Amino acid sequence: MTPRWAAPSIRARLTAWYAIVLTAMMIVYAAATFVAVRHEFLEQFDDQLHEDFETAEGLLIRTADGRVTWASDRRHGPDGDEGRLYEVWSADGKQIHRSGASVALPPIALASAGSSYRYETVAAGPERWRTLSAPVSIDGHAVVLRVSRSEQLLRYQLGEILLVLVLGLPPVVVLAGVGGSLLARRLLAPIEQLASEARRITAERLHERLTVSNPNDEIGRLTAVMNDAFARLESSFDQLRRFTADASHELRTPLAVVRGIGEAAVAQRRNPAEYEEAIGSLLEEVDRMTNLVDTLLRLSHADAGSIRLSREPLDLGQLAREVASSLAILAEERHQTLAVDTADGVIASADRLVLREAVTNVLDNAIKYSPVGSTVAIQLARLDHQALLAIADEGPGIATEHRERIFDRFFRVDEARSRDGGGAGLGLAIAKWAVDMHGGQITVGQRPGGGAEFRILLPLAHPASAAEGPHTTQLHLGGPL
Ligand code: ADP
Repeated sequence: MTPRWAAPSIRARLTAWYAIVLTAMMIVYAAATFVAVRHEFLEQFDDQLHEDFETAEGLLIRTADGRVTWASDRRHGPDGDEGRLYEVWSADGKQIHRSGASVALPPIALASAGSSYRYETVAAGPERWRTLSAPVSIDGHAVVLRVSRSEQLLRYQLGEILLVLVLGLPPVVVLAGVGGSLLARRLLAPIEQLASEARRITAERLHERLTVSNPNDEIGRLTAVMNDAFARLESSFDQLRRFTADASHELRTPLAVVRGIGEAAVAQRRNPAEYEEAIGSLLEEVDRMTNLVDTLLRLSHADAGSIRLSREPLDLGQLAREVASSLAILAEERHQTLAVDTADGVIASADRLVLREAVTNVLDNAIKYSPVGSTVAIQLARLDHQALLAIADEGPGIATEHRERIFDRFFRVDEARSRDGGGAGLGLAIAKWAVDMHGGQITVGQRPGGGAEFRILLPLAHPASAAEGPHTTQLHLGGPL
């Protein structure tokens, strides 16, 4: 089995990042400090060397016998000073005087002595010496003076500084880690709190919301987004609950009817004709329930996003005429006239069966809810890039306050009246779903002479896509209808 490493927590990562960045900054800072200090030390060292040189140049004299020595008024002779060395070289490269440390430095390179000050670092065994040489004239005699200082003390001091800087780093790293961890904890505390609050909100307590401490910071915005999500969840849950309750309620009535018919039939002995009638009524109720259950199943599939549209170029005028002729029998029963007025060649890219159901439901309602002998008008027109299919009747119309909810599931304006017609209040919900799926819109308005007018707007098929032939689109539904 391969080992599974848990990803480190945000707090651990923040702490690590903080420590790494701070340490890197400290290293850069320490290195820069050291370089600057070293530069300054070396410069000062050369300045001191130069001072030594000038002092020596002023104090060296030539005795009558040609020797070079210190002037007699010099109180502190450099002899015995282990850190410094003064040498005087003759023009032909012979050492004619030396005083100070008893160290053996390499002989002076006359050719390179030149005419100006020459700084050099030379090695004397394990030690390094800094030298300054230049031609001088002692009492009118041209010689080369070389002043040297041991770099040992300087190196030692620089080493100390470096040591302090390096030794200072580990505590800084530790402090950075601790500081980073505390900082991360402080930063993440609101998230921890958010998590524990969110845990409290369950399906039963979806009405609760997270507290937004500061709506302007990142956590505040995250909280607001989560609250929005909870609000949407709550409304979806409510819808689902209502749907289930309504569906159960719808099924109860036909079941009660079935029970009633059955009980009445077995209550006493009856003749075959009566039994036949009872069974006929039972089958009718069963049909009604089957329809309802089918519709509910379709809606739940639609909710789950598992219904695929199989689109093809569809002549909407043809579709309207088809639906009208299939429902003509219902209109005839009620002595109604179906006035179909459709433009030709209005093509949408649509799923024939799904769209046909939408139009059927709307037309069926128009016939169902308008009076005997009235006229139902079906009109199709082309508007810019859209097709408009209007179905108008001479019925009671739909009051303004109901127009919003008319497309909700199980919504019926008049429970008693609709139930007689056999509707469960799902027809328009399905119609809306179908039209929405095609990128269209369904609205309801009032006809000028009274009566309802349902308007279905659908995007027209692009000429190019119309030529492509049938194709299938996967649907993704956002939520319950
Ligand atoms: P139903 O199956 O009850 O007809 P629908 O969803 O098709 O359900 O319609 C919802 C309600 O809208 C109906 O119960 C009815 O009250 C009202 N309604 C629908 N169409 C019309 C119409 N053309 N005229 C008047 N009322 C209508």
